[in-house]
Amino acid sequence: MIELRHLTRTYSSGTGVVRALDDVSLDLAPGDFATITGPSGCGKSTLLNLLGGLDTPTSGEIRVDGLELHRAGERELTHYRRHTLGIVFQFFNLLPAMTVRENVELPLLLRGDSQKKTTPRVAEMLDLVGMSHRAGHFPHQLSGGEMQRVAIARALAGRPALLLADEPTGNLDSANAAHVCETFSKIASQKIATLIIVTHSDSVAALAPVRIHMIDGTILSKHVINHST
Ligand code: ADP
Repeated sequence: MIELRHLTRTYSSGTGVVRALDDVSLDLAPGDFATITGPSGCGKSTLLNLLGGLDTPTSGEIRVDGLELHRAGERELTHYRRHTLGIVFQFFNLLPAMTVRENVELPLLLRGDSQKKTTPRVAEMLDLVGMSHRAGHFPHQLSGGEMQRVAIARALAGRPALLLADEPTGNLDSANAAHVCETFSKIASQKIATLIIVTHSDSVAALAPVRIHMIDGTILSKHVINHST
């Protein structure tokens, strides 16, 4: 599902070359759930941008769901972002003038899915995240945790193979964060998508069977926890 081979991204700065990602290799299988932690500046955003098809590596290979992102053109990357990828952000990024239902539906309509197809899919996703009862509400009528669960429904609506989350609980109190964590655990247990969460939170990191710790542009450790006991 995800194959990183000697992935390197450097930036030139006045004082020299910054190796934001330095020879990173990693494999994740379909349905895997991984968290990425590490200090500020260790390369987490750089890796997310590459996985998100928003940046290209300086060298090395990055394959997601069969697509070679390191050599993909703009058209392929646009298709990848619309069809293979879902992203959840720290600040939810819901559209304030649209209802919960409309927020989840919008990316599907924008990519050309029919209303007939989107209506049941939106209902299914709101049910998955436990937000069906708020479908007609506007974002400002929701708690932060509820907004984030709507954002998760929106990210999953297009059936992405890969769901990326960038500090998804970074703006939430612990009670709301716990609800969002439950939602991610449910997605992972149903293997709805391969899930990668970048987080500073130890409790979020501990949710995942695959725990990746980065430092100085490299993967310092990858722990795979077996939950089957
Ligand atoms: P993190 O997300 O873990 O905080 P980043 O991926 O943002 O880390 O950054 C990794 C390193 O690359 C840092 O040293 C950062 O300063 C550098 N970096 C990131 N983006 C740029 C850029 N556009 N130009 C120059 N240096 C950058």
